[in-house]
Formats: sequence, structure tokens, C-alpha cells
Amino acid sequence: MPPSLLIDHARFVITLDPERRIIRDGAVLVEDRRISRVGRAADLAGARADRVIDGRHLVVTPGFMNGHMHISYAHPVRGIFPDDLGSPLGPVFTLQGAMTEEEEYHASLLGIVELVKNGTTCFVDPGSTKFPDACLQAYEDSGVRVILGEGVTDTASPLPLPRYTAEEAIAKTAAFLRAWHGRLDGRIRAWAMPFSHETCSAGLLRGLRRLADEHGTCLTLHHGSGPAARAEAIKRYGLGPTEYLESIGLLGDNVVLAHVLGLEAGEMDCLARTGTAVVMCPVTAAKGGRGIPVHGRLPELLARGVRVGLGCDSPNNSNHLDMVRAMNMAAIQYKDARQDMGQIPAETALELATLTGARALGVGDALGSIEPGKQADLVLFDTRRPEWQALWNPVNTLVYNADGRSVHTVIIGGRVVVEGYRQSFVDEAKLYDRVQEIGERLQARTGITFPRSRWPIV
Ligand SMILES: [Zn+2]
Repeated sequence: MPPSLLIDHARFVITLDPERRIIRDGAVLVEDRRISRVGRAADLAGARADRVIDGRHLVVTPGFMNGHMHISYAHPVRGIFPDDLGSPLGPVFTLQGAMTEEEEYHASLLGIVELVKNGTTCFVDPGSTKFPDACLQAYEDSGVRVILGEGVTDTASPLPLPRYTAEEAIAKTAAFLRAWHGRLDGRIRAWAMPFSHETCSAGLLRGLRRLADEHGTCLTLHHGSGPAARAEAIKRYGLGPTEYLESIGLLGDNVVLAHVLGLEAGEMDCLARTGTAVVMCPVTAAKGGRGIPVHGRLPELLARGVRVGLGCDSPNNSNHLDMVRAMNMAAIQYKDARQDMGQIPAETALELATLTGARALGVGDALGSIEPGKQADLVLFDTRRPEWQALWNPVNTLVYNADGRSVHTVIIGGRVVVEGYRQSFVDEAKLYDRVQEIGERLQARTGITFPRSRWPIV
């Protein structure tokens, strides 16, 4: 059992409890990995703990849920794609497919370092990790919560993705769920992870949904709509893409669709009716020029009661792995897109990154808010920084002024994983050198290289 922990006299505790209390001069007691008490410091004055963190200059939030985060390949080659490349997905999957176990371990470890130091305590890797056995050490050492799966497809695709027969893909997924679900004291969860309906047959999708149901777990896939995708789906199935998923029985409350740009009203009704959750990647959408003013549907999905989470997607899409910046983008891009400052208030953005995100991933009972009985996944922000001045409304300050660089301390399941800006599970300087070398090797081996810069590097 980890030592008990008291965060005392926190400047603010942003609880995300049912009343959405923000407790001034707050305290949080952590015992046996869980939050046991939350309240005013005065109310917890008699509380005893093995360790006390002085919270006078800290703002406490729930840990962030990063609902779509490919970490397996990109760190060694982050930033190689020029802005005018268009979609980098072809080279992405070639690079991903070329990783060795050792390379993937180091790339994933660096991804996890960046995630936890920016406040992510739980992330979904949507089927991109090829060697989870090799990466297990990184999951174990870091203490982070990981949702993993076997990424599968069974139809021809221009993208070099792992392709199997439907039976093989189902068997691989079943074996993965049996081997991985619940490992590391439940910190690892395993889901079914077909890539998309364009790359998977209806038979495969149905089989994977059945497996997810049987194992009491979830399924995630990439999904989008919009005029071109609708026209293509209508040609292939006689239905729009989301109506097609509903028609084959794929949608449901243990299904998470990623990206979901361009949905029409009827498609959003499908999601609401079936209880299907979504994860949106606001920075990827903006950087990729995906057209939030035309295709962004976050306000409409929330109005229908759809559970929505946020993700950072990939170190070659959003590029950063910072949920505070993702929250900021979610909050500001709809204001601009709709020319309406009332869209996606700061509080809503924080809900997406915490409680609503946890609900979208099916773990809302255990994670996503600071309430007694929940897992002690907490982020402590340092307010002794210029961007936190002056401090009146901590949610407003967090979402609009701050970023992950003010994450001071991170606690996952009661274990202090980052303390005073430092993690202690890996030598970061050595890891940076290693990942840079891997990037050089990977580009040489695959021949995927681009001019380093538009400007001469001399
Ligand atoms: Zn993805």
C-alpha cells in the first residue's frame, strides 16, 4: 500500500464534484491509492498522513484523460513533415511499421514522460503500439494509466496498416484482451481497436463489438463524416457513415469514436440515441486545417448529451502532448468558428479533459473528479509563475493563461509520479539522446526524409 498523503492548504481545489465546488484553502487526503476526504483545510485539520504536501501555492485538479494519443512512433521523427505535405498518414504508418521493439520502447517512454509532466494521468493509445510487451516496463515505471489494444484492419487500404483476415483480427483482439485487461493493478485496460469502418469489414466490426461486450470493455475507432465521406459511404453502403455504423450494430455505450468531424444532425442523433461516446482532437483539427467552422460539432454533441473527451492524437498531428493546450484550443476555436464568445466556456473545456472525458472512456465512476472513493489521480499546478497572475478565477486562468509547463506535481493512484517538475522513473537527458538517434536510424532505414527546414540550416 502506498503511503497516505495529505495535500494541505491548497490555494484552490477544483473538484469537478456534482456541485462543481472550487474549494479555497482546500485539502485532499489520499489513503490506499484513493481520495478519502476533500474539503476546507480547516475541516481536515485533524487528518494525519505519512506525507504532507504544502499546497499554499498550488491549484489542484483531477488528472487529465487523454482519449486519443498515438505515442508509439512519432517522438523520434516529430516535426519532420513540412506544413505543405498534406496528410502525412502514409509516411506515418510506414515509420510506425518500421519500429523495432527497442525503438518503440524508448519512443513510448518519452511520450509518457511528456504526457505525465503535462498532467495526463490516463491515455488511450488507439492501437498503434506494436510491442506492448516491450513497452510494459515504461507503463509500469511511469505509473500512468494506459488503455491499449491490438490495432487491426481486414480490407485493402492505401495506408500501410496491419491487415489480417477478419478471423485473425478477432482472434488477435481476443488474445490481447485476455492478456492485457486489468494488468498492473488495473492501471492497464485493453479495448478492441479496429482502425476505421473504411478499413474494416462489417463482419470484423461486429465481431470486435461482440468481444468488447463479452469482456466488459470498450471499442474505439477513427470516424469522420462530411460531404466526401458521406458520398463515399452512401456509394458503399447506401447509408451515411454514422448511420452505417448504427445499422451494423456497432454503436453503443462502450464505443468511442475518434475525431468525429463533419457529422450531420441525424448522425449526432444516432450517437445520442445509442449512448456512443466520442473523443475530439482540437489541436489536430486546427493544425490539419480540418475546418472547425464548417465541420466542428462539439457544441451540438454536448447539447445532445453525448459524452465527449479530448485527445492530443499524435506527436506529428497536434505535436504537443499537453491537455491544457488541448483544452485551450477546444475553448477558443469554437468561439472563433461561431463568432460567439459564449461557445465552450472554460468550465466546459475542463470538464472535457477530466470528468466528461473519463465518462467517455467508461471510467467515470473511478476517475475524473476529486471526490471521496475515487482513485487519487491529481495534478497540482504551480501558481508562482507569471501566467497564473493575478489569480481570481482558477478555471479561467488554467484554460486561458496556463499550459502544461506549470504542472508542478502529478499523483496517479496515490503515487507521486512528478514532484517539483521532476519525474524520477527515467534519466531524461539520456532518453532524449537515444530518441534523437532512433529518429536518425528510422529515417535512414525507411528513406522517409524531408528537407529539414525552408530556411538554410548552416
Ligand atoms: Zn488516431
